[in-house]
Amino acid sequence: MFARLEKINTEVANTILALPKSERRQLTSKAFADIEIGSAWINQTIRNANARTQVKCFKRLPLETNNQNWRLHRVGDTFSLGFGLVRGIKKRIPIEVHAASHRDWLEALLEGEAKAGSLKLVQSKKGIWYACLSVSMEVPDAKETDRWIGVDRGQNVPAVAATPDGPVIFWKAKQVRHVRRIYAHRRRKLQKAGKHQAVKKLESKERRIVTHINHCISKDLVAMASRLGAGIRLEDLSGIRRSTKQRKKTKSDAGQNRDYWPFFQFETFVAYKAVQAGVAIDKIRPHYTSKTCHHCGAINDRKKHAYVCTRCGHKAHADANAAMNVRDWHGLCCPLNL
Ligand SMILES: [Zn+2]
Repeated sequence: MFARLEKINTEVANTILALPKSERRQLTSKAFADIEIGSAWINQTIRNANARTQVKCFKRLPLETNNQNWRLHRVGDTFSLGFGLVRGIKKRIPIEVHAASHRDWLEALLEGEAKAGSLKLVQSKKGIWYACLSVSMEVPDAKETDRWIGVDRGQNVPAVAATPDGPVIFWKAKQVRHVRRIYAHRRRKLQKAGKHQAVKKLESKERRIVTHINHCISKDLVAMASRLGAGIRLEDLSGIRRSTKQRKKTKSDAGQNRDYWPFFQFETFVAYKAVQAGVAIDKIRPHYTSKTCHHCGAINDRKKHAYVCTRCGHKAHADANAAMNVRDWHGLCCPLNL
């Protein structure tokens, strides 16, 4: 049904585009009263068609309506969406929430903490129809601070945080590395056997587990920053290409590979949760953060968990050393003794 109505909607939009501009501005949904799509949706289509002056012809214009024409409901654990798409018919459709984080937004909507925007019906490449709700929320300005929590995505643990007052916190979700290795192993086995469907299933299960862990840690971290009145300083991993040497060495080991997507996801989660909480975020270039001695600035290689400086003798957990470097970043950590 959605596909058919979207097609009609697209035809309506293209009819509008064919009109001279002066006529377009006068247009109301009354002009399309014979069409089965409700007038609230047609009004939005008129606005959308008029807003895009560069477009000559829409291939596909999703059905959209503004915040007046849909309601969110909740019964127990089930959210449902009420809207009238076809003229004169109102329906309430139970919805499956796509990601755990979206539940927070839906709850904020119901509690009046967030404001509803438009509702758009879109179809994914796989053919599944989604209701996209836009939601906005007033957030506090990020507090200015000179206290920072340095966060390193450890090689042995999912995250390590060096707090401004000293203590270093480890999030030891043992599962993470374990999950990565086991799944990489199973995936290879299935791939060899040519079981592509099973590979996909496995991948999505792995994603769900790691996503859950990332949500938990980022939530914890932002709450801690808020409590300590500190900002969060992270390594900026976007656009970083590891050296070939490191890539060769680590790509073969799923447990060690820092190009692995959860790091980027973690960064995203921390960023949006921090914005909501008014916690400042700072991103630094990640060069040498794990190799530099936090004490004297010399460059050493880590030996698994241990960091031992050959110059000053400073000893630390390698991930803690890195997290402290991130925290105390002063914009320069390039060794000059080349
Ligand atoms: Zn040192």
